[in-house]
Amino acid sequence: SEKEENIPISIRHLSFAYEDGEPVFHNFDLTIHEGENVTLIGRTGSGKSTLFKLICGLYQPSEGTVRIFGRAPESIPEEERRKVFGLVEQQFKPVSGNMRDQITLSDPSISEEDVRRALAETGILPAIEDLPEGLDTPYDPGLLSQGQFQLLSIARATVTNPPLLLLDEITANLDSVTEKQVLDALRAASEKRTVLSISHRLFEAAGGRQVRIGH
Ligand code: ATP
Ligand code: MG
Repeated sequence: SEKEENIPISIRHLSFAYEDGEPVFHNFDLTIHEGENVTLIGRTGSGKSTLFKLICGLYQPSEGTVRIFGRAPESIPEEERRKVFGLVEQQFKPVSGNMRDQITLSDPSISEEDVRRALAETGILPAIEDLPEGLDTPYDPGLLSQGQFQLLSIARATVTNPPLLLLDEITANLDSVTEKQVLDALRAASEKRTVLSISHRLFEAAGGRQVRIGH
């Protein structure tokens, strides 16, 4: 049988409620195998984002277990997390510094070559090179469009080459031209990875497994 350390996501008998709230999960099970593309589908408030937070170790289950490659998420040291999973959130979250810092998050172990490869894979490298100081340009929200910032988010998540990607509904507010660019970048980023996404049309269309949560 499959070794636990080879299973990207294994959730067993998960129960969880926010303080003073109704249970969001009760005895929930989900196993995602290597190379799978799984889409979480559920209405507003069903617990999709909460499940991501449990997978990232931001919250602890009240009962049951959440394992990433056999490990409790909160037990993975901060500096190792990005090598295990990449999280692409709905909105790009800037950090202080220059454009390179947006990708590396100031991790000195990430090389210039890694940064350029990740940017090239998402198709955003030419636009960054056109900036006045290229990667050294100080961050400014006016430098790129919303869709281009989403491409930066994907480069940030893939620069450490993690085997697992978590995508939280990232094309929700994009125009159709930018959406196509973002979908192409996601398709490339997903090729050799296990992906868990929240109601994302790419993976629905690609025939990945759909998991419905809530009622
Ligand atoms: P959406 O599609 O709107 O993003 P979702 O499926 O991501 O919804 P969650 O955000 O996970 O749903 O919320 C699940 C439930 O938990 C909802 O009832 C919500 O009100 C509640 N909830 C979410 N975050 C918190 C919090 N920080 N504190 C208390 N309750 C919360
Ligand atoms: Mg949500």
